[in-house]
Amino acid sequence: MENPRIAVIGAGLMGTGIAQVILEAGFHVSLVDVSADQLENSKGKIYSFLNRKVEKGEIDKEYVNSCIERFTTFNSFESVTDTEFVIEAVPERLELKKQIFKKLDEVINQNAIFISNTSGLSISDIASVTNRPEQVIGMHFFFPVPKMGLVEIIKGVLTSDFVYDKVKKLSEQIGKNAVDAPNYPGFLVNRVLVPMINEAIYCVMEGAKPEDVDAAMKLGANHPMGPIQLADFVGLDTLLATMQGLYEGFRDSKYRPCPLLINLVEGGQLGRKTGRGFYTYK
Ligand code: NAD
Repeated sequence: MENPRIAVIGAGLMGTGIAQVILEAGFHVSLVDVSADQLENSKGKIYSFLNRKVEKGEIDKEYVNSCIERFTTFNSFESVTDTEFVIEAVPERLELKKQIFKKLDEVINQNAIFISNTSGLSISDIASVTNRPEQVIGMHFFFPVPKMGLVEIIKGVLTSDFVYDKVKKLSEQIGKNAVDAPNYPGFLVNRVLVPMINEAIYCVMEGAKPEDVDAAMKLGANHPMGPIQLADFVGLDTLLATMQGLYEGFRDSKYRPCPLLINLVEGGQLGRKTGRGFYTYK
């Protein structure tokens, strides 16, 4: 039997990567975005990535052609009918996600499974606006999606075991290792990683040199990248938003964002993307 169709909503950084790995795994993909420019951009990125794989001898030209045949883009999800899964990857705003899930519930076939790629919003809350909360689940991919081997699977309070099993199988089919994460802020990776980076920033605020904090964690804890370097790479605004989400979600002072992090974000020093964070980039 042919692999089913998957709709990906949002053709940004994550939606593009998700669409690509799903296409490469042999599924039909409908990529949806309100922005025609984003769709064009996304299509261009996917095709050039696949062509680079041909140049490296990793896949052949025929496979690229079959991916192109299985790939369709749409400006609105009202045009997507008969899909087995929907993967939502629109910006991390609860009200926007709820509005989209409500609309999806009205127009997409009743047996479709709805997946959110949220980084930390509650799956139960998102599911609550649909008439199929047992068919709503979280699947948290990591950037860059084609390179990162992990997905976190998050059940909401009403998500069925049947849906969980289907999504776990989907993870295997697209070559990702799935771990189960509780439906609490930060899930697993961000819950552990981001407070660690925040603590490293406290060390800098208290006088440690960023280079020393990074060397300490690379040589003393075998981390491939130091936490301060990682902070600049991820973006200080993204880190601050995640810390704020943990702090508000758990109401526990151990998640308070470091004042130095707040200070740098307020000053527009966001890391690599602005050319300056803890380090300076050319
Ligand atoms: P992004 O801003 O790059 O892309 C979002 C896309 O959604 C844009 O192309 C936008 O045009 C589109 N969009 C907005 N409203 C829409 C609508 N109503 N219908 C269809 N498309 C719409 O964002 P991103 O970084 O790809 O993040 C998407 C989600 O993935 C967020 O929930 C984020 O928290 C999560 N996430 C991000 C990362 C990361 O490293 N960036 C990692 C894991 C998870």
